[in-house]
Amino acid sequence: TRTLAEVDPEIAQVVRQETERQEQGLELIASENFVSPAVMTAVGSVLTNKYAEGYPGKRYYGGCEVVDVAENLAINRVKELFGAEAANVQPHSGSQANMGAYMALMKPGDTMLSLDLNSGGHLTHGAAFNFSGKLYKVVHYGLTRDTETIDFAQVASLAQEHKPRVIVVGASAYPRTLDFAKFREIADSVGAAMMVDMAHIAGLVAAGIHPSPVPLAEFVTSTTHKTLRGPRGGLILCKEQYAKTVNSQIFPGIQGGPLMHVIAAKAVAFREALTPEFKAYQRQIVANAKALAEALQKAGLRLCSGGTDNHLMLVDLRPKKITGKVAEEVLDKAGITVNKNMIPFDPEKPTVASGVRVGTPAITTRGMKEAEMAIVGQLIGEALDHASDEAHLAHVRGKVKELTKSFPLYASRLK
Ligand code: PLP
Repeated sequence: TRTLAEVDPEIAQVVRQETERQEQGLELIASENFVSPAVMTAVGSVLTNKYAEGYPGKRYYGGCEVVDVAENLAINRVKELFGAEAANVQPHSGSQANMGAYMALMKPGDTMLSLDLNSGGHLTHGAAFNFSGKLYKVVHYGLTRDTETIDFAQVASLAQEHKPRVIVVGASAYPRTLDFAKFREIADSVGAAMMVDMAHIAGLVAAGIHPSPVPLAEFVTSTTHKTLRGPRGGLILCKEQYAKTVNSQIFPGIQGGPLMHVIAAKAVAFREALTPEFKAYQRQIVANAKALAEALQKAGLRLCSGGTDNHLMLVDLRPKKITGKVAEEVLDKAGITVNKNMIPFDPEKPTVASGVRVGTPAITTRGMKEAEMAIVGQLIGEALDHASDEAHLAHVRGKVKELTKSFPLYASRLK
């Protein structure tokens, strides 16, 4: 029973320093969140020791009767949360959830139609250097220039032209409500299946403040660690008729033993997500995003599509004559964490980009509300306006530290 600090002082220091970084910084990466201590306890539990290849009641190892309880709880809770007929909670990540769903729907060489990476899609939606782009024939739809929202006329015409096996819906950087019904209509018109990757908006969907794809899509995939606020991982929801196929694609198709400690933590997060407090949290995420959007516009920045309906916004930095790459570095110096991001029809390369993606899930978990969003927007503007003034950036960092001190995260609890 030697402590981590005794066994491995270097890693103990990493944990300490990362706790401090999370505690003192403003975390605005739209795909990140802070899990509850209960979720963390499950992730750090003895369940990490257990092999449980297979599914509850049908395992390839003995001694699974206890972890079976955890997986069944996770399955039943997530089905209740999203009103799904069947669920697989074993994907190690969102990428593996997508791979499992693709393999249930397509053979290598089949065609999928999905949102372009540069328009807000995800790597696993067919990027050439990703497994999805290598295994399948990929056709991409994008956004319209004027509204910077999904170009449904293009989706419909590409669907007619290419007759894809699957239409993939979902995004990593799309600030507007996704119209699943419209996608369903187009899919039906060409006999395509529809797969929705709701990773970013799963918490909003769970809380009923974004339309649900679950009744409309053959498969819905998600990560569990973004707005849903669970441990890092993935999940797949589907109609009962597809459950057997997709289960066999995850195991033994692409994974071996499930991470039972993570599955137990998913169960905890789903239980938390079923509470009224979680719904209120999701509503606050959206309210905060609207308030932050307003504050950023007031600071002289342009928001792609003119604003946000969900938990994130895409900030066009060109009014400040600064690139996404530089802005990410500058804001880092000010203790504000964001990621550079392509904006629609971006003239810059992906490694430079003209925008940053900003999200409110993590700072909302800390308890920040609209009043703090006004300050956060102002601090971002101030940092970008003094991008090459190290002393001023240190000054902003001081203000960030002051603000985050009023919204303690883990440090007080983990001592
Ligand atoms: N799908 C979407 C829409 C995402 O944004 C992400 C993560 O960024 C993923 C899938 C992949 O999840 P993971 O990083 O867990 O593989």
